[in-house]
Amino acid sequence: MSFGTVLIANRGEIALRIIRACRQLGLKSVAICSKADQGASYLDAADHSVCIGGPTASESYMDGSAILMAAEATGADAIHPGYGFLSENADFAERVEAAGLVFIGPTAGAMRTMGDKIAAKAAMRASAVPCVPGTEGALSNDAEAMVAAAEAIGYPVIVKAAGGGGGRGMRVVRSVNELDVSVQATREEARRTFNNPEVYLEKFLEKPRHIEIQVLCDHHGNAVWLGERDCSVQRRHQKVIEEGPALGIPREAIGAVGERCVAACKAIGYRGAGTLEFLYEDGVFAFIEMNTRIQVEHPVTEALTGIDLVAEQIQIAQGNELSIHQSDITVSGHAIECRINAEHSLEGLPSPGTVVNWHSPGGPGVRVDTHVARGTTVPPYYDSLIAKVIATGRDRAEALSRMRGALAEMRVAGIEVNIALHQAILRDPAFVTGPATIHYLEKALAEKRFTVS
Ligand code: ADP
Repeated sequence: MSFGTVLIANRGEIALRIIRACRQLGLKSVAICSKADQGASYLDAADHSVCIGGPTASESYMDGSAILMAAEATGADAIHPGYGFLSENADFAERVEAAGLVFIGPTAGAMRTMGDKIAAKAAMRASAVPCVPGTEGALSNDAEAMVAAAEAIGYPVIVKAAGGGGGRGMRVVRSVNELDVSVQATREEARRTFNNPEVYLEKFLEKPRHIEIQVLCDHHGNAVWLGERDCSVQRRHQKVIEEGPALGIPREAIGAVGERCVAACKAIGYRGAGTLEFLYEDGVFAFIEMNTRIQVEHPVTEALTGIDLVAEQIQIAQGNELSIHQSDITVSGHAIECRINAEHSLEGLPSPGTVVNWHSPGGPGVRVDTHVARGTTVPPYYDSLIAKVIATGRDRAEALSRMRGALAEMRVAGIEVNIALHQAILRDPAFVTGPATIHYLEKALAEKRFTVS
């Protein structure tokens, strides 16, 4: 089956990325937008664009009915959800299929299982994927059982919402005195934010790295893994810098976990692109969750493997067999991505507004994924990510040097962006020597180690 037209249920840089993939494949693209994004220049890259509602996400990019109406009106036969918004919403995927369209992603069933972190860990354990030690099911509300569960794991523990995401719904508990309050607070937050009050406990790892494995699976039972990304540089559990290959981890260890991921995806009948996220500490990988969509940091893998992951996603959704075999996949050189956010470098506060000057860097080994140009308005309603700079080199030193050059060349005026924060990290000997743990950035900020002008 081949699509004629793909509607992109997203905005900004990822919408433009998907428009480009459609063009590569000879498909027409429809971009949707909210009133806040109407008139944005990136929309011109699509064959059609449709304004579907008001400025807030719930009136537009989260409004499944409005999106389906736009798909019908424009004759789209498939919907690509990008990341965020409705990309991991199994109900939406079902509605898309019920309307006779193709949802470019896994089945609603696989999304439901992986969207529930308790069910996801159970599925991974069943395929012998190593998981972070913790409660095997939802945490009981019985005070004694709770205390016993935490003691069995050993403090510190982390309370996590089964339906959590975006770095929310997590609390670290260091002793039995804090347990009850933290569990109740996480439960309440989970009920309100994720509409699912289930929580579970995990061992809180003190110095792990965040290492994730990219997979691609088709409808015919084929699955491959495409190397790893180290996403340990985080702020408030949100990724800031990602790179690959991961520094200092033996290739055999990565290979073993990659093979496990492929086996697990085959066992659950997964299809599409996906990412299995692990914490890595003292030479041990431990699964935390799976994302059933394309990720912000996918260009790192594209740079290392030369494979267009978005085009692959679309071809898989068309029912094609994977064109790549595991033996075709080679990772060469080093790649690093800096997320450019419309926010103050040190405080991290959002900075919406109109971009009055914009210059994107270039040169060998530099890729910039962005929808922004001079005159673009960055609305206050959505995520603050406005661009991704990806630098590739023969080795890490060359990739870092190219990234420093790219950031020095980049010009943004009218809004605050976090370029100075990236520059401070890139000249910090602790980061350059590496490897950073997930606490590296918060610690450096708390110690006021970075001075940015
Ligand atoms: P989300 O779905 O909100 O992204 P994750 O489960 O992927 O949540 O966790 C996000 C981040 O939180 C991880 O990358 C890591 O930095 C931290 N984290 C999660 N679980 C643990 C744990 N057991 N120990 C230490 N840090 C953790």
